[in-house]
Amino acid sequence: MARRWTLATLRAECLRALRRKDVRLDVRRLEKCQAQLHYVPNGPAFVTADPMQVGLINAAVHEMLHYVMDEFLDPFLGVRMKEVALDAWEERIARTIITSPAEYQAWVRAIERKLEGDH
Ligand SMILES: [Zn+2]
Repeated sequence: MARRWTLATLRAECLRALRRKDVRLDVRRLEKCQAQLHYVPNGPAFVTADPMQVGLINAAVHEMLHYVMDEFLDPFLGVRMKEVALDAWEERIARTIITSPAEYQAWVRAIERKLEGDH
């Protein structure tokens, strides 16, 4: 895909991914991480987040960043380098979401629908 990402397009793509019917989100206690993702590229995904450790917007953004960007980053970034990049994008994108009432409402609604099992 010949496409130059911006934070805005990346944020929109992450929300679009989160809204997919085959992308699930659940909350439960996690021992070794704050959130995790199991997925098939461009296919079904299952996000688990521990809300006692991490906010659900941050968790959803981070795991959707993996879903959207892993295929582009994996060829040239090691796991730790990739996490540095994703953590930085997560922080910027989550801050924009939290400070924008429209973005906040869109993300909260998408997350609530997942938690209600309503996709
Ligand atoms: Zn990560």
